[in-house]
Amino acid sequence: MPYRVFGPVPSRRLGRSLGINALPPKTCDYACVYCQLGRTTHMTVERQGFYDVGELMNEVERAVRAALSQDERIDYLTFVPDGEPTLDRNLGEMIGRVCDFGIPVAVITNGSLLWRDDVREDLSAADLVSVKIDAVDPVVWKRVDRPHRSLSPEAVLGGIRDFSRDFGGTLLTETMLVSGVNDGEAHLKELASFVGGLSAHASYLSIPTRPPAEQWVVPPGEDVLARAYALLSSVVPHVEYLIGYEGDAFSRTGDVREDLLSITAVHPMRRGALTAFLAEANASWDVVESMLRSHELVELPYGGETFFLRALPGR
Ligand code: SF4
Repeated sequence: MPYRVFGPVPSRRLGRSLGINALPPKTCDYACVYCQLGRTTHMTVERQGFYDVGELMNEVERAVRAALSQDERIDYLTFVPDGEPTLDRNLGEMIGRVCDFGIPVAVITNGSLLWRDDVREDLSAADLVSVKIDAVDPVVWKRVDRPHRSLSPEAVLGGIRDFSRDFGGTLLTETMLVSGVNDGEAHLKELASFVGGLSAHASYLSIPTRPPAEQWVVPPGEDVLARAYALLSSVVPHVEYLIGYEGDAFSRTGDVREDLLSITAVHPMRRGALTAFLAEANASWDVVESMLRSHELVELPYGGETFFLRALPGR
């Protein structure tokens, strides 16, 4: 069986997600330098039918029944293949058919084909779409995402904008930051300005945390992450980090250190917010000093404010 249905697995963006991987690896129109699936072996922009839809739906049904029979919650059925899901010309039919399970449907896409009417139409039936926006500058886009040579940066960005205008579901954006490639201040400002013009419910900032396609890829430092967060949060209602910790900013253990690590893995805290948090938890600033000394937290000035952020994994 070439396709895979897996999970439900916990996901910060999607809660408990049952994954549907229905593309031959690795079929994509990008060859992102940070791709955790390795190099693109099947680079194409042609939409094709890959697998038998009926067979795949039977597999999804089996997985849904198995999960529900064990009282496992499924928040989303998610198309998250080893490649770009909109390259599958059966995607619209598959979304329509999995909708019959009565579980919200999500698609994780690189957004490269949203300039096509048929792709926008297919995705319009999903409940949630997460679109990758790593770059808005054509030169930076070519360096970080290494797109198929027939793709035009203006068309890709225009397609994302059009989709955002018409889509009635939940739109998320995700930006992967790679040190020295797409993390310069001028580019981050341009990117924030583009993302701010979309009606996204939330934007996620991620960094490479698994072995990337290219060995030279390294994540940016905490200072860049704090800057990107500040720029995006001035234009998008909700911004979160995906930096390799499964932080949960909304649950409290009652342990001040643990709670601070969970929150700052997702959102950097300004000094004022941190002071208020400590007061509410009946704790003193000594906890923060000690976490700074042990390099669990990092203190970063930006834009006249001081941010406190969980140190990146492995640093
Ligand atoms: S778009 Fe996704 S699957 Fe394609 S190369 Fe980039 S990270 Fe990998």
